[in-house]
Amino acid sequence: MKYYDKLIFGLSKERRIGFSLPENSWKDRADGIPANLKRSSPLDLPQVSEPDAVRHYVNLSDMNFSVDTGFYPLGSCTMKYNPRISEEVASFSGFSGIHPLQPAESMQGVLRIYSELSDWLCALTGMSAFTLNPFAGAHGELTGLMIMRKYHLSGGDTGRTRIIVPDSAHGTNPASAAVCGLEVVQVKSTGEGLIDMESLLPLLDETVAGIMMTNPNTLGLFEKDIHRIEAAVHAAGGLMYYDGANMNALLGKVRPADMGFDIMHLNLHKTFSTPHGGGGPGAGPVGVTENLKHLLPMPAIRKRDGTGEYEIAMPESSVGRISGFMGNFGMLMKAYTYILMLGKRNVRKVGPYAVLAANYVKESLKDRYRLPIPSLCKHETVFDGLAACSGDVTTLDVAKRLLDYGFHAPTIYFPLLFHQSIMIEPTETESKETLDAFIDAMKKIADEALTDPDLLKEAPHNTPVRRPDETLAATHPVLVYQHKP
Ligand SMILES: *Cc1c(COP(=O)(O)O)cnc(C)c1O
Repeated sequence: MKYYDKLIFGLSKERRIGFSLPENSWKDRADGIPANLKRSSPLDLPQVSEPDAVRHYVNLSDMNFSVDTGFYPLGSCTMKYNPRISEEVASFSGFSGIHPLQPAESMQGVLRIYSELSDWLCALTGMSAFTLNPFAGAHGELTGLMIMRKYHLSGGDTGRTRIIVPDSAHGTNPASAAVCGLEVVQVKSTGEGLIDMESLLPLLDETVAGIMMTNPNTLGLFEKDIHRIEAAVHAAGGLMYYDGANMNALLGKVRPADMGFDIMHLNLHKTFSTPHGGGGPGAGPVGVTENLKHLLPMPAIRKRDGTGEYEIAMPESSVGRISGFMGNFGMLMKAYTYILMLGKRNVRKVGPYAVLAANYVKESLKDRYRLPIPSLCKHETVFDGLAACSGDVTTLDVAKRLLDYGFHAPTIYFPLLFHQSIMIEPTETESKETLDAFIDAMKKIADEALTDPDLLKEAPHNTPVRRPDETLAATHPVLVYQHKP
């Protein structure tokens, strides 16, 4: 049976009933609805039994790939296992039932959680204060850059309109800078995949607002010149922005503030486990050093002097509101639970295990896939396509074939430094057996690329959707199922 045939769309039979609404419970209330808004014909819903409906949704979920169904080594995205307890805690009615406009007195517990989570993020990063308001990593970047802009402008320094972004940066970095009205200046990487000091130094002048960096960078490499970079940027009057979307390798080990960063964001929906993908909810808290605290967005949470009570404040010199209320509370709750569950000691183990897993995969595959930068990596590793193949087998073909072996594809064609990038991030929760099975599949695919390249060119062979036209899917999405009998 084809995947689609298992869904209920074709199964509808008139008067087959899976659920009966209670008589009358809604009819009285319908009286208040204006006539022009009332439905005149019955709703065209499939009429199916309860078992059919249950099977429909289970089969539908089967058509998807998720971190709960298999290994998901998506580099720069940290698809880590999401502990069930985080979901459970976030759904407690005391948390899920609050209203953002409730008076502060009635949600002291929730405000305390905001405050404690901010404190923990400060402890992990060395920053002095955090706002939890931004909804995503990119949203955090924009918030952080607004703070950077306002810092310069409020000091009367109006000429700092340029921002330096390395060529290995995540695409959201230059995009956020552009949205913030800054001119992006790209700085090149060396052959070792690190920022080229020779290219950087001449760019630093009084027109530079700052630099946006990721460390370890998107090649999974630690920028070992970070202190020289920091000294040079600060000497030129610029600020250091840290993209901490993927802080997995450094958790509890290295603090961005100690590397000299002034502003940063974290992706709670990557580093702190909360589920993400498909545009799902996120959280991109922004942290700053002491001298920038006053610029953080509003509303902010403050402890009232003496009383131990929390209040919601609207600080005057803030960059303003960047979100409706105070972030995605459910996401914050999950990160809070995750950190609490790990505790001080175990939070330090995340990085070493993630780094070990990435290096294990790197060393195991380097004979079959081109490894442009062979040095020790951090939480992720980047290959540049197959080492050998017959015909023109590409990274896309390898990624598609992996689906047939039951693995999600790694990130491909990013970073842009190489033509055939395959970026693998295994995370700390995968067992050695899972990593071995993945390595085995990658090696088999490398064999197939030599002996039967067409098998790869036509892959995937056993997924519900094979090779969608990505441009068409983005420009003309079909969002409603169309049943063709
Ligand atoms: C994911 C990611 C971002 C953007 O985060 P979103 O929540 O998707 O906006 C920024 N930088 C890096 C390095 C990332 O991996």
